[in-house]
Amino acid sequence: MSSQHPSIKENWFTELSDEHFPGQGFSLKVERILHHSRSDFQDVLVFESSKYGNVLVLDGIIQCAERDEFAYQEMIAHVPLFAHGNPKNVLVIGGGDGGVIREVVKHDCVEKVTLVEIDKTVIDLSRKFLPGMSCALDHPKVKINLCDGFQFLRDVAHAAIDEKYDVIITDSSDPEGPAEAFFQTEYFELLKAALNPSGIVIAQASENVWLNIDYLRRLMRIAHSVFQKADYCYTTVPTYTSGQLGLIICSDDCRLSITKPQRHPSKREQDALKYYNPEIHHASFILPTWAARLINDR
Ligand code: SAM
Repeated sequence: MSSQHPSIKENWFTELSDEHFPGQGFSLKVERILHHSRSDFQDVLVFESSKYGNVLVLDGIIQCAERDEFAYQEMIAHVPLFAHGNPKNVLVIGGGDGGVIREVVKHDCVEKVTLVEIDKTVIDLSRKFLPGMSCALDHPKVKINLCDGFQFLRDVAHAAIDEKYDVIITDSSDPEGPAEAFFQTEYFELLKAALNPSGIVIAQASENVWLNIDYLRRLMRIAHSVFQKADYCYTTVPTYTSGQLGLIICSDDCRLSITKPQRHPSKREQDALKYYNPEIHHASFILPTWAARLINDR
């Protein structure tokens, strides 16, 4: 384990990406490096920040920080789960930190959650340094598969795995590295093949309207070419560069209104949530005028 990292200089970590956000960067003050290694799949860093708790970084890109992670996990999980209304079988691709799993098991109607994570190192480090996120990984409804999510979906499509899902959540890292295939047409086709008839998929888009709207438009075109319905919503997360993250949500059920919850959280469920509520579900689909024009112009 190395105590240095190329993205840390004079106790500041800086996230940079020439491909995805050229000309800008995002920095956090580092208190101490907790872990740095190269796994079989990616560069893995965990550091303690001065304001955002422990932070997980893969290939130089921030994945989650303890203080604001709920804004991401709750939206990517609860928007599709409440839009579906009665999901029983849920698949999470990526998500080795466990934050999305923690949210999915809050739904009593969910009977089974499968987590497909390629990198065991992420799960092990999350159990050690991100206990608030990994706390439900051993929940009795959760089954963990250590393999490539793309291959897993191919196995579902070719019936080597005999299961279909009500909701599929792609909680992947960004398109460079092991998650590259998740941002292509074939992946959306495999998602569609793995869904029950009224199923919903949601994927983190790795971008937002400020960072790279052309990239989002391309992704939306792919989603529309595969699914009857595709929509864009977003969540606000201060530790993602520019403070927003886009989510692409799709379904083949034309009767379904994915922009509104079919089921509202009970009082007990709502009390357990910090970001999601039915109003923000709907509001997260409403874009500023210029962005809506560009995203919806096909
Ligand atoms: N919230 C995060 C974000 O959007 O920045 C994503 C978090 S989660 C840590 C992303 C996970 O996807 C990582 O643990 C990574 O190992 C996993 N992953 C990347 N490529 C994968 C693949 N091909 N199959 C399964 N998991 C993959």
